[in-house]
Amino acid sequence: MNGPDLDHPLAGPFWSAAARKELQVTWCAACDRAVWYPRPHCPHCDGNLHWRRLSGEASLISWCEVAGGLNPQFREAYTCALVSPLEAPDIRIVMRVTENTTPALRCDMPGRVDFVYLQQTNGAPYLAPAFTPYA
Ligand SMILES: [Zn+2]
Repeated sequence: MNGPDLDHPLAGPFWSAAARKELQVTWCAACDRAVWYPRPHCPHCDGNLHWRRLSGEASLISWCEVAGGLNPQFREAYTCALVSPLEAPDIRIVMRVTENTTPALRCDMPGRVDFVYLQQTNGAPYLAPAFTPYA
């Protein structure tokens, strides 16, 4: 795992949007609902999916502490979370919790998706989503 592949046919648009500090997910026009993770077609109706920018408002579904990562650039412990966007409460996106989070985490905690710099295994930086809970 070197880091995000901006040219990946399914996940590339997500990482390209993240590089602009935008949260985007795939959306089915026929079902009018979010589909996550990205797939070639809607798993509910087989319709075509397009990318939709979301506000970044979200809630915390669950989380866990990761003592150390497989990526040697992730030496420090971090908190990994399942987050649901406000506009798409049925999906869960995996992301970190922002460092220096002061409030104690709790289920359904509101917050927003920010973007933080992480490092690929070759040391190159990239922007990744991170959940920042509201106090
Ligand atoms: Zn659909």
